[in-house]
Amino acid sequence: MSDLTCKLLIIGAGPGGYVCAIRAGQLGLDTLVVDAAPPGGTCLNVGCIPSKALIHAADEFDRAKTFAAPNHLGITAAAPEIDLGKTIDWKDSIVARLNHGVTGLFKKHGVKLVQGRARLIDGKTVEVQGETGKTLIRCETLVLATGSAPVALPALPFGGPVISSTEALALRQVPNHLVVVGGGYIGLEIGTAYAKLGATVTVVEAAGSILPQYPANLTKPVAKRLVALGIKVHLNARATGLAPDGALLATIDGTDTALPADKILVTVGRRPVTAGFGLAELRLDMEGPFVKIDEMCRTSMRSVYAIGDITGEPMLAHRAMAQGEMVAELIAGHPRAWDKRAIPAVCFTDPEIVSVGLTHEQAQMAGHDIITGSFPFQASGRAMTTEREDGLIQIVARRDNHLILGLHGVGAGIAELSASFALAIEMAARIEDLAGTIHAHPTRSEAVQEAALAALGHALHI
Ligand code: FAD
Ligand code: NAD
Repeated sequence: MSDLTCKLLIIGAGPGGYVCAIRAGQLGLDTLVVDAAPPGGTCLNVGCIPSKALIHAADEFDRAKTFAAPNHLGITAAAPEIDLGKTIDWKDSIVARLNHGVTGLFKKHGVKLVQGRARLIDGKTVEVQGETGKTLIRCETLVLATGSAPVALPALPFGGPVISSTEALALRQVPNHLVVVGGGYIGLEIGTAYAKLGATVTVVEAAGSILPQYPANLTKPVAKRLVALGIKVHLNARATGLAPDGALLATIDGTDTALPADKILVTVGRRPVTAGFGLAELRLDMEGPFVKIDEMCRTSMRSVYAIGDITGEPMLAHRAMAQGEMVAELIAGHPRAWDKRAIPAVCFTDPEIVSVGLTHEQAQMAGHDIITGSFPFQASGRAMTTEREDGLIQIVARRDNHLILGLHGVGAGIAELSASFALAIEMAARIEDLAGTIHAHPTRSEAVQEAALAALGHALHI
């Protein structure tokens, strides 16, 4: 067994761990990061990037299909065909480029990467089982960034036709019938993509609406589009098992049903990776299934930090990255604390949902006296010229001082608006700040200014 020592040891090279490592390297800390998989974590290897690549390919294919029939743009083209194997090869090439990119950034900033599975011996000692043997690493400070994994349903364990997002993002043939259990982020993003690629898609959702964490005004345009794409959504429905012919057994409206399926994609949430590597023996304080942290991402054990999905909701890559950057600076002695006002959430459905800050309902529940304003894309010239008039932008603000509490929207291609939403809230903008900012014409962003004007009672274009 070989021995290594370092100042900072990070377990997990996902968005939390790799950003922490890069920043620590920039700050001159002797840093070592361990991961069993190629650097980039869930997000880069089997999550954010692969899913957005598949969604892009599906959108392009779906668009090309419209040109095979007479259309109002006057464009004619032959019916497209898809070779999903080639699409997946293209996706894999992007993942490989990004893996190399992260590895290159580690090298540039003097971060050492040890490939293998880490096992905690104590809060300062870790054993790594790599391909060529074991390495013992001693550190002064430990950062846990082991991320999350898909939740399995006891009645539908993963294997055979029952797949998680990881397998769904690597299929080389479009399934004829795809049944998706769980109509949340992953189920709808991937389910929509496969419907566009030609699969018959059925969604089985336990709650009374799709994306139950979002308010109805944001999910309604998505639900409408699912119908237009031929996706059947069963609400208040429960998966109960797998039939011998591969069909999904489910209870829908109190009736037992069998839904034909080639593949069953189970996307009922993700759980933090806290077991199987000696974490329990550290006896850290937990918060439900997550590692409990304070505003500096410190755990209950001195010199052990935790970041990313193992530390709680929202389990999003950009939250993990922001925590990673902060923790590196803290370890280097900089005064930092988690003081973010907003963590943007983007759901890459069709249309896309963006939500930053408090929704109407959340603001009221928090006791705020609020005013709201909204602007529908039906009244946007840009939306008309891009043939997607569905959706809206909504602003939520305090009535007394007009401080913006939330900015939300649903519309085609509006994910990029998440930056201006987050900036407005982070900088404590008031409605007048958005209303008084010149927004370029014609862009979808004008709807943000119009929603602000609507909240002030004098929208110009409705
Ligand atoms: P992870 O990315 O999970 O990385 C943890 C790393 O730790 C892994 O590489 C793992 O191999 C390693 N590890 C674990 N245990 C050990 C051990 N004992 N030894 C060595 N290494 C270990 N988020 C977004 O913000 N936007 C999106 O669009 C988005 N899309 C997603 C799509 C899908 C299909 C999925 C599954 C997730 C998506 N997410 C998205 C969520 C996002 O991927 C996670 O929030 C993010 O990856 C969390 O980062 P992390 O660093 O905490 O952990
Ligand atoms: P999710 O929490 O978004 O959705 C899970 C859905 O499954 C919910 O609607 C829930 O009501 C439903 N459900 C739970 N148990 C069920 C059952 N037995 N039968 C039927 N339905 C059931 O979880 P997810 O889609 O697995 O995604 C996990 C996490 O990954 C997300 O919460 C998010 O943090 C992250 N993610 C983010 C993005 C993004 O930012 N665009 C994309 C994908 C994933």
